[in-house]
Amino acid sequence: MRATVFHAPGDVRVETVPDAAIAAPTDAVVRVEYACVCGSDLWFYRGVNVWEPGWRTGHEFLGVVDSVGAEVTTVRPGDRVIAPFSFSDGACEFCAKGVQTSCVNGGFWGGESNDGGQGEAVRVPFADGTLVVVPEAVSNDPALLRAAVPLTDVMSTGHHAAVSAGVRRGGTVAVVGDGAVGLCGVLAAARLGAERIFALGHHDDRLAIAKAFGATDLVTARGDEAVAAVLDATRGGADAVLECVGAQSSMDLAIGVARPGGRVGFVGVPAQVGSVDIRRMFSNNIGLHGGVAPARAYLPELLADVAAGRLDPSPVLDLTVDLDGVPAGYAAMDGRTATKVLVDLTR
Ligand SMILES: [Zn+2]
Repeated sequence: MRATVFHAPGDVRVETVPDAAIAAPTDAVVRVEYACVCGSDLWFYRGVNVWEPGWRTGHEFLGVVDSVGAEVTTVRPGDRVIAPFSFSDGACEFCAKGVQTSCVNGGFWGGESNDGGQGEAVRVPFADGTLVVVPEAVSNDPALLRAAVPLTDVMSTGHHAAVSAGVRRGGTVAVVGDGAVGLCGVLAAARLGAERIFALGHHDDRLAIAKAFGATDLVTARGDEAVAAVLDATRGGADAVLECVGAQSSMDLAIGVARPGGRVGFVGVPAQVGSVDIRRMFSNNIGLHGGVAPARAYLPELLADVAAGRLDPSPVLDLTVDLDGVPAGYAAMDGRTATKVLVDLTR
C-alpha cells in the first residue's frame, strides 16, 4: 500500500510500505477514505520534535473496515468508522474514566511502529475500544461525512477545551488562537450555549470563520493590549477561557483574560510554555484544567450532533488534496496558506 513517510524536516513523501494487516485478534484494518494534516504535524515537519526518517505520519482518519481479528465484536468489515487520534483498549482504569489518551495499553498513530492515517490503510489496535461506527445518516450524506472528519482531532480538542474551561449556557468565553482547534473551540462554546464569545487571533480569514462559528467579538491585538481589550469589554474578564495554541504568549494571554473565579481550559500542545502566572491564578482563584483531549470519549456525542445537522466544523478544512498531494498539504499548512488540510482518498 501507499502511505506518507517522514524523511527529514520539510520532507515527507508518499511511498510504498508494507500492507496494513491484522497482527492481533483485537485488531482491525481500516481502508482510509479521509485523513487530515494537523497543526501538530508541523512540530516534526519543522524539526521542533525530533523524528526519525522512515516514521509514518498522520493521526486523523475515517474509513471503512476491511478486516477484523477473531476477538473484535463491535465493528465488522464494511462498517464506516472514525478513529480518535489515539488508540485505546476501552478496558483499563483510564478508559473507564474517560481519559483514553492515558490508556495503559494505548498509543498514537504513526511514528516508529504504527500505521499513520495519511495512507491507504491502517492497522487499528484494540478496534473495539478505539473505533466508533459512523451513524447511517452521516455515512449516507457526503456533506455530513465531511463534517464528521474534524471530530477525529480538532473538533474533539476544541470541545475538550470548552468542557475543561467550564463553558456554561449564557456565559462569557474567550478563545485564544485562531487555528483549527481555536475555531472549533468557538464552535464548541457556541454549542454549549455561551452568550458572548471573544475570538483572539491574527488572521482575518480565520477570524471570519470564527464569526461564522458564533464568535461575537474579534480581538486582533497582541499581549497586554489584547488582555486590556477583553478585560475592558467584559468588565473584568471571561468566565471561561480556551487556550488553543500552546505558546508562552498564549498561555499568558489566557490566564490574563480569565475572570476571578474563572477557568482556563488548555489544549494547545505546550511545546513552548515555560511557566504559568500562578500568582495571578492564586490571587484570583483562576483554575487551569485540560490537556490532551480524550477524543474517544466525545466521539459518540459529537457524531450524534453531526447526524442531526447541528454541528458542522468542516469550514476549517479549507484545502483538499489527494494522497499524492499530502507533501503539498504540509507545505501549505507550514506556510499558513491553509488552516487545515483534508486528504481525500476517495477520488
Ligand atoms: Zn485503556
